[in-house]
Amino acid sequence: MKYVRIRKAGGSAAYGILRDGMIELINGTPFDGKAEGTGEFIEAESASYLAPVPFSKAVCIGLNYRDHAEEFGLPIPETPVVFMKPSTAAAGYGDDIIYPAMCHRLDYEAELAVVIGRECHMASEKDALDYVLGYTIANDVTARDLQPKNGQWTIAKSFDTFLPLGPYISDEIDGSDLYITSRVNGVTKQESRTSNLIFTIPYLISYLSNVMTLLPGDVISTGTPGGISGMQKGDTVEIEIEGLGILKNRIGG
Ligand code: MG
Repeated sequence: MKYVRIRKAGGSAAYGILRDGMIELINGTPFDGKAEGTGEFIEAESASYLAPVPFSKAVCIGLNYRDHAEEFGLPIPETPVVFMKPSTAAAGYGDDIIYPAMCHRLDYEAELAVVIGRECHMASEKDALDYVLGYTIANDVTARDLQPKNGQWTIAKSFDTFLPLGPYISDEIDGSDLYITSRVNGVTKQESRTSNLIFTIPYLISYLSNVMTLLPGDVISTGTPGGISGMQKGDTVEIEIEGLGILKNRIGG
């Protein structure tokens, strides 16, 4: 299935299933085992997208591709570098990313995001993938100039709209070796494969769930490959991952 979450006329949120260019709204959620079609269809092209999941926490991994650590001149981490984004940072496909007034260098970061499907506490690496609902695309938008100033990364990573997610969650793919790329105004900026992750998805789920209980809908963003750079107001940023479509946003604000 490919699950989406959209804004209906009047502003309420609804889950749907994307199939052949159409979205069928569902009763229930992708997490409760009651996701049944309602017979109400919307054209995918004309839908207004929310982040595909309202998460309690987005746990993000820094420096998880060798070439990205190297472009900062930083050593390859021996344990995962972890930070979090607030739920208020979420944005959907097509939403504007707001360029904050206090930021002077705004970066994209193309990332594969894991969506947790059921409560996960102290999972073993072997069982970790049993807790995954599916995968989506994340853009870990970063106010790069604020990152070193603050001592840690919360301010640089947490502005509203700094975590576009989507367009959909797919439970039809294996996340271990997917082509990932980003483009700004059509120019390719990053290209890699998720097989280059330093810490694998099962390792990350096990590691994190031995620290904090992961809840249904929680997002783990697995880190970005090398090739980061800045964006300007009016730019369009696209992140494409094999099997997950294209997450497209414009820089506004
Ligand atoms: Mg990142």
